[in-house]
Order: sequence, then C-alpha cells, then structure tokens
Amino acid sequence: MMTALKLLLGLLIALLLFVAVLAVRTLCTGKKEAIYTPSEDQERIAAYGEKLSRMVRYETVSYRDAPDVEKFRGFHALLAELFPRVFAELEKIEIDGNLMMKWKGTDDTLAPIMIISHQDVVPAEGEWTHDPFSGEIVDGKLYGRGAGDIKNGVFSFYQAVEELLAEGYRPRCDVYLGSSCTEEIGGDGAPKMCRWLQERNIRLFMLCDEGGSIIEDPIAGVKGSFAAIGIFEKGYGDMRFIARSNGGHSSTPPRNTPIARLAKFEAEVERRSPFKVRFSEAVDGMFRNLAPYASSFGLKLVMVNLPLLRPLVKKLLPMISAEAAAMLQTTIAFTMQKGSDGYNVIPQEAWVTGNLRYIPHQGLEESNRIITELAAKYDIETEWVTGNDYSRSLDLNGEPYRMTLACIGKIFPQLGVMPYVVTGGTDSRFFDPVCDACVRFTPTAVDADQLGRMHGIDENISVNVLPGAVDYYKCLIRMQEER
Ligand SMILES: [Zn+2]
Repeated sequence: MMTALKLLLGLLIALLLFVAVLAVRTLCTGKKEAIYTPSEDQERIAAYGEKLSRMVRYETVSYRDAPDVEKFRGFHALLAELFPRVFAELEKIEIDGNLMMKWKGTDDTLAPIMIISHQDVVPAEGEWTHDPFSGEIVDGKLYGRGAGDIKNGVFSFYQAVEELLAEGYRPRCDVYLGSSCTEEIGGDGAPKMCRWLQERNIRLFMLCDEGGSIIEDPIAGVKGSFAAIGIFEKGYGDMRFIARSNGGHSSTPPRNTPIARLAKFEAEVERRSPFKVRFSEAVDGMFRNLAPYASSFGLKLVMVNLPLLRPLVKKLLPMISAEAAAMLQTTIAFTMQKGSDGYNVIPQEAWVTGNLRYIPHQGLEESNRIITELAAKYDIETEWVTGNDYSRSLDLNGEPYRMTLACIGKIFPQLGVMPYVVTGGTDSRFFDPVCDACVRFTPTAVDADQLGRMHGIDENISVNVLPGAVDYYKCLIRMQEER
C-alpha cells in the first residue's frame, strides 16, 4: 500500500515539475508585436501603381491547348517600354515566350542569383466589379487578373533593377530575372529556362520565386503581419482508383458493388489517414517563430514547448486545422468519380480520382505504395496518371536564408517572419537541378481578403505595398556584395 502511494506521489511530483518547466519556458519567452508599415511616399506609389496597372491591362492568360507565344512577346515589348534601362543594359534571352534577362556581375567566380515570377495569369471568369483587364485603381487598390498573382512580383524586381541601373550600380554576381509564361498551366516554360542554365553549367546561389508573401494573422491565436517564407514545396500526384465487377441488375443487387467498395475505401482514408504525421524543420521553425506573438498563454506554452509536447500536438493538430495537417503529412483528396450510365445499371467499372500532395518524409514512391495497398484491400486497382515529387528544402542555417532574413529585417523592421510549407505548386520546383536554395517569398503585403481573391473575382493588390517590395529586391541584389 505504502509503495503504491509513494509511486503515485512520485508521479504527481514529476508531472508538476514537468508543468513547471513548461510554464517557466513559456514565461521566459518575451511578447512581441508583428507590424507591417506600408509606404507613404505618394510619388512612388502613384508611379509604381501606373506601371503595374499597364502590366495588368495587358492580358496574359495562358491556355493549355493553345500556346500563344506572340501574345507574350507583346508583353515583353510592354516591359521594355516600362523598364527601358533593363532592356538596354541587360542581355535578353527569350525561349518560346519565356523571358530571362541577364545582368552581368563584376565577379565571375560568384554563382549567380535568379529572381523569378510568372507573367501568365489564369482566365478571369465570373462577374467582376472592376473589369479584370482594366487595371483600375480605386481607394488605393489596383484591381485586375494578375495584380496579386503575380505581376506585382514581376513589376517589383524589374523596377528594382531599373532603379539600381539608374544609380549606376553593377552587381557583384550575375543576376537573372526570369518569367515563364506557362506557370498557371503547369507547362514547360520553367523547365526550359532551367535547361538553358544547365546547358551552360550554371548553378545558382539562390532562386527567389513566389510562394509566401507578407500575410496577416497567419494562424488562429496569432495576430500581426508576417513574412511567410516557403521552405519547400510538396509534391503533386493524380491517381485513378478503379473498382470492377460483372455488373448485374440493380433489382437484385449483390454485396460489395464497385461503388460501395470505392465508398468504403474513401471513407477509411478520410477517417484515418494512412500517411505518417511528422514535424519538419519548416514546421518546427514556424511554431518557434510564431510563439512570441501568441495571444493566449496556452497557445504560447504549446508553441514554445513543441519539442516536449510533440506526440500530443501531432495527434491534435490535424483535427484542428486542415492547413496545419497539410504541412505535416502527405494528403489525398478525392476529386472526380464515375459509375455506370444508368439509374438502374450496376457499373462493371467505377472509378474515383485522387489528388495527392507528397511530403518529404513520405515521398511519391512510398505514398503511392501505401495508397495502392490500401485500395487493394477493397479489391480496387490503382492507376498512376501524372505527378512529381516534393522539392528540395531550403537550409534554414544557410547563407541564402540568412540574406532573406537580413533584407526583411532591413526593409520591414517590425515584421514577423515564419518559414512554412508551400502546399500548392510554383515554377521554382523545376529549378532543383540547378539550385539548392529556393526562397519562395514575394515581399508584397496582402490581407486575408486579397489572398482569397487570387484566381478569384476582383483580384487586387494595395499599391502602397509596392515601394517596400522594390526596396526589398534592391537590398537582396546589393547584399550579394557580402558573399
Ligand atoms: Zn502564381
């Protein structure tokens, strides 16, 4: 009896000590505020807004089945008009409508950097309040398809180089500006640019592309403005799951018809994901960085003590947030489904498609094997359609990441920073063969409404965020002098 009591007492003391450690660690983490301050330089804002407006007015929709190289060449001509110094002094390389500008550096021994953003946009469907290709500026917001995704990026780095040239600046390393015209259709523009570099044995020191931007209130319980820096990109896969039978009449239905089997399979995947949950450096870094900004003690305690509480958080997080879950594991979403063609016909073949997003700790091959084996349990065949694996991860202890942080700190001194996992797809994934360090971050600020309108109706960007973005790219190019 005494020993049991002693054991219980010992456990209680250990638990109290553990809680005390968590609390002390939390209390030792200071409170910070993350603030973004837009520009007040009305002259710059007006001039930049006008240039970006003209870029938006030029329609650059890309279509999968109808490549229109001439349309993009027309856009290049507009860029040449808006950024005359860039086109006069940099070498122009055009590959089937994809544009690269090469700015020769003074030191041949240094690996170049490349800044990219695509020039194409998705079609503008639905009823817009502001014509999608008018480039209208109303109450400080520039409306139009591509204003947010991602002509603001193209504008910002072209303008940065234009201004550096006007100052007589020469970069130390070669600087490439790249812009594919096929990003929105997952086309071969970026791979072609990558091949061009490969053929010349050019390895990049760093590549900067879209991915994250400056966002507000990134997760529930954390308020403020943060630079969301994409550390890696998940892989992408389309699969088809097929259930077969001998058909039969629906008046005498057998058990386990194809549709029922598919439904059981889908329900199991949704009830209990077959993919492993694991914290990556990016997700750890995200919570570590966000901890000082947490509004409640409880949330802060969890974030600060993540290494100690990981088993618990691993279980809870996927239940709380789909976004968070997507950063911790491979995901699958069922997207299209088909059975027979008649109300009264049991299908001989029914299928459902699944869209997978692969995480580095369970890549394309392993994830496909897991889902194939699970499907087989329900007598379902699997067919691979298309896809690619996850991208390489940016080293959070490396020089390119340090430079990114340094420029953010200089241009946006009160901004918070958070590394994160890009769950969509960008052009930068194609550059893995020539670059170890892809920074997926555009230095323009967007609020939640603007973020939701990319690819949607009334896409827009605030024009007072443009000067900061231009300054950021100027800083990044100048920072190469420190290498
Ligand atoms: Zn984009």
